[in-house]
Amino acid sequence: MENPSVLLYGPLKAKIEDRPVPEIRDPYDVVVRVAYTGVCGSDVHFWLNGGIRTYVSEEQPLTMGHEASGTIFAIGTKVTTLVPGDRVAIEPGYPCRRCVDCKAGRYNLCPSMKFAADPPFTHGTLCKYFLLPADFCYKLHDNISFGEGVLMEPLAVGVHSVRQANIRPGQRVVIFGAGTVGLMCAAAAREFGASKVAMIDVFERKLEFALSFLGSLVGRVSTPNREFTPEQNAEKFIKDFAMPEGPDIIIDASGAEVSVQTAMHLIKRGGTYVQTGMGKRTINFPISEVCEKELTVKGCFRYGAGDFDLSISLVSQGKIKVKSLITKVLPFEEATEAWETTKRGEGIKTLIEGVKD
Ligand SMILES: [Zn+2]
Ligand SMILES: [Zn+2]
Repeated sequence: MENPSVLLYGPLKAKIEDRPVPEIRDPYDVVVRVAYTGVCGSDVHFWLNGGIRTYVSEEQPLTMGHEASGTIFAIGTKVTTLVPGDRVAIEPGYPCRRCVDCKAGRYNLCPSMKFAADPPFTHGTLCKYFLLPADFCYKLHDNISFGEGVLMEPLAVGVHSVRQANIRPGQRVVIFGAGTVGLMCAAAAREFGASKVAMIDVFERKLEFALSFLGSLVGRVSTPNREFTPEQNAEKFIKDFAMPEGPDIIIDASGAEVSVQTAMHLIKRGGTYVQTGMGKRTINFPISEVCEKELTVKGCFRYGAGDFDLSISLVSQGKIKVKSLITKVLPFEEATEAWETTKRGEGIKTLIEGVKD
C-alpha cells in the first residue's frame, strides 16, 4: 500500500485501505509523514455513531484522526518555514482566510473551516501521508517527543480556554471534568497566574491522576454527591475548596448538564464562566444566576492564533509535563482497539502509531 489509511464507513465499521499519496497542488502546502495520532472522546463518538453533526456513509467513508505529529515529507514551492525532515505537531483545522471571522482574527469560527476527520470530505490523520497548509504545522523543539507532540492539540484547547477566561494573577479557578482537556485547562490556568486551581470529576481515579499531574500548585479536587441538587453540590465544593465566595473563574470541560448547573451556583458574583466541554446540545440552564451575579459566560471552540505556539513553548520549558498523560500506545493496525480503550475510559490518552515502513 502507498498510503494506508483507517477509513470509517459507519458506526463500528472501519477498514484499513490504500489511498493515493496526497499531491501538493497549493504551493503553500506540505505533506507530513504521520508519527502518531491521539484518540479523544470525539473519535469514540465517531466510532460509535459514524459522525457528530455530519456522518460518514458506505459511499463516502472518511479517514479518521485529528490529533497528530509527524515529520515533514515534502513541501510546496512557496514554503520557506519548513524543510523535509522537520518534526512537527499538526493543527488539524484549516480556515478559508477570507471571511469576516478569519479577517477578525477568529479563524476557529470560520464557517468554511476544513477540520480533519470531519465528514463528509475532510480526511484525517490516521494515514501514512497527510497533506495540510505549512502554517498549520508547528515545529517541535528537540526536547519534545512525537508522542508529546500529539498532546499539543488538547493543550491548545486548554490554552484557548484560559485565554477566553481572561485569567489574571491571583484568581481562583475551578475546572469541571478531569479528562485530558480538563487537565490541560488546569495546567494552563496555573501558568496564566491562577493562585488556586481546583478540579471536579465524578471519578476519584481521574482526580488522583490530576493531583499527580498538576502537583502542589493545584489545590484540591472533589467529587459531587449524586444525591445532592446542583445548589447543594455547589455548597459542598465551596467548603471542599475553601473558596467562601466561590471561584472567580469556572471552566467546564465536562459538557455534563449537571456540571453546568452546579457551576452557575458555585461561581463568584461577577465571575467568568467558559464552556469548553460539549455534551447534550440543549440543557436546562439556571439563567437567573447569570443575571443576578452579572456573570460573563463565554464559549470556547478548539483553538486560535498562537495557541499551539504557546503550548509548545510551555511544554518545551518543562512547565507542563504532558508525557505522563500517554497511558497506552497501539499499532496502526489496532486503531479500532484504541477507540475501544478510550470508550472504556482506560487510562488518559491512547496514541495510535503511524504506519511502519
Ligand atoms: Zn479531539
Ligand atoms: Zn474563514
